[in-house]
Amino acid sequence: MAKKRWGKIVDLNKCVGCHACSVACLAENKVPNDKFRTKIIEHEEGIFPNVYRYTEKWSCNHCQKAPCVDACPTKASHYTEWGTVEVNPDLCIGCGYCVLACPYRVRVMNEREHGGLPEKCTLCTHRLEKGEKPACEASCIAGAIITGDLNNPDSEINKWMAKGAVERRPDLKTHPNVFIIPYRR
Ligand code: SF4
Ligand code: SF4
Repeated sequence: MAKKRWGKIVDLNKCVGCHACSVACLAENKVPNDKFRTKIIEHEEGIFPNVYRYTEKWSCNHCQKAPCVDACPTKASHYTEWGTVEVNPDLCIGCGYCVLACPYRVRVMNEREHGGLPEKCTLCTHRLEKGEKPACEASCIAGAIITGDLNNPDSEINKWMAKGAVERRPDLKTHPNVFIIPYRR
């Protein structure tokens, strides 16, 4: 069977900035509400009077060449069979090197819960294993999020890729599995 490369696309033209995804993620993963794994970023661009705003869901990009994995001294941060990046709590020593190494600043140490380990999106692989969608995708009222296997040419996510999905920061060369469809005025 072909190797999986599970990813996500967020369509910034559909996102309404309601925060349903970030709250659903907190509840699903039992994360304290000051340690969001998924945040909503507000963008304001243009020059008055032609100013416009849009929102962007921001979370781990599940990089295929992940600086967090390279920085981890214990191999706790690792690539999964889904093609995603996760932390093995049994190997993690809570040093925080991965938090510093992530160029997207999507990891945060959780000193109070989860054993003082780093928090970050797992793409809800525990739900994928049951055939369910990640909590963010399942909760999005605007249909702005899709996940799926990028290695499956027939997958819905690859139809979204063809709509103009791009990497957030191609200059970083981390080869992410998470993409955006940029906001178009
Ligand atoms: Fe690691 Fe950051 Fe890439 Fe996520 S976005 S895989 S935390 S380097
Ligand atoms: Fe690895 Fe844990 Fe240290 Fe992060 S905090 S680098 S996952 S051992």
